[in-house]
Amino acid sequence: MSRFEPVLSSRVRRVKLSPNAAAGERAVRLKAEGRDILALNSGEPDFDTPEPIKQAAIAALARGETKYTPTPGTRALRQAIGAKYARENRLDYPLQQIIVSNGGKQVIYNAFAATLNPGDEVVLPAPYWPSFPDMVLVNDGTPVVVPCTEATGFKLSAEALEKAISPSTRWLVLNTPGNPSGAVYSADELLALAEVLSRHPQVMVLLDEIYEHIWFTPEEPAHLLHLAPALAPRTLLINGASKTYAMTGWRIGYGLGPQWLIEAMTVIQSQASSGPNSIAQAAVRAALDSTDQAFVAQARRAYAERAAFVHRAVNAVEGLSLRQPQGSFFAFINVAGLIGRLRPDGRPLATDHDVVEWLLDSQGLVAVDGGGFGLSPYFRISFAASDAVLADAAGRIRRAVEALQPVTRSASVSSVLETAGG
Ligand code: PMP
Repeated sequence: MSRFEPVLSSRVRRVKLSPNAAAGERAVRLKAEGRDILALNSGEPDFDTPEPIKQAAIAALARGETKYTPTPGTRALRQAIGAKYARENRLDYPLQQIIVSNGGKQVIYNAFAATLNPGDEVVLPAPYWPSFPDMVLVNDGTPVVVPCTEATGFKLSAEALEKAISPSTRWLVLNTPGNPSGAVYSADELLALAEVLSRHPQVMVLLDEIYEHIWFTPEEPAHLLHLAPALAPRTLLINGASKTYAMTGWRIGYGLGPQWLIEAMTVIQSQASSGPNSIAQAAVRAALDSTDQAFVAQARRAYAERAAFVHRAVNAVEGLSLRQPQGSFFAFINVAGLIGRLRPDGRPLATDHDVVEWLLDSQGLVAVDGGGFGLSPYFRISFAASDAVLADAAGRIRRAVEALQPVTRSASVSSVLETAGG
């Protein structure tokens, strides 16, 4: 009798499990083996969802809001999202221009699924959130990765954008405040990008503002659509409740954009998942409609203090450097100074992947290497963790680095060349 052979689609073979998920699985395995593991790989607030939001979910359940909802989300939640954008962002979006999905992630997936054809290019500044290139690939598009070095604050310059655009470019992805870079685009930087985009009307903008409320700049960051309102008909805003209200597990994200695009995304969603969870939608509506947004400001202050602590602690370690994060809750740490150093077992650290492995082997610290974000040699940790956990992490990082032998010259030169630009 012939044996069953699994056959996978070319679609799934183009992509991989996200590096965060892979690191998370490794952490769980090692913990189960009894190792003392500190996992700073994941990208979620350590805070619990605020109590009034939980109560709103319980009330929705008690009211019997347990049925299917409209595919693009309940009217009530879309109204609340529209009201939030009018109130906080001074941008007007009617209901037909708003979709609610299972997290910001599904909004982005829907957008690419609804617009990309084979050969279409998506300009992706690196370092990037790892799902962006894979979501482009799974939807037949071609990521055009533009490395944005630390010298430019990990931000895309107008010149680099101009060079990256071709007649096949469909999208520019911008994520500000940024994961993993912690970068926030200034008004001048956004204006310069908008000027380039004004000359390339075929390019749409996917503006991922999921970390909208987590910024540490002196002023509230400027919004692209205030600076360049002409881009609104070709801009999709990505946002959600995960980061702002500490609701990652509730899976509610939203997209706001031109009606034709939202309608096409709704078609995709209707065949993938239908409307998101009814109870989670009721909870997020309560979060957005509440006059008490104190949690958001408190969380921002806590993240700002943690960013300052991590910045100080990392820069005190010889061989590491970190720019002051301006937003989001990630530190993207430069490890160029460690490349070529030797582990006590004699193995050299040739790449940032080796550095991350050493952090794990020697100190049980789970981080993600820069390669996963398209820029080496770096590693990312999340600072959405308590002060005690961050102090513990700082100690582990320092001890891991101090245990290394000094750099051997030949190793350092060749490996830096190999990893540059990742
Ligand atoms: N965009 C960025 C840049 C992110 O970091 C994340 C979460 N890691 C998302 C979108 C999606 O978040 P969610 O699906 O939880 O809304």
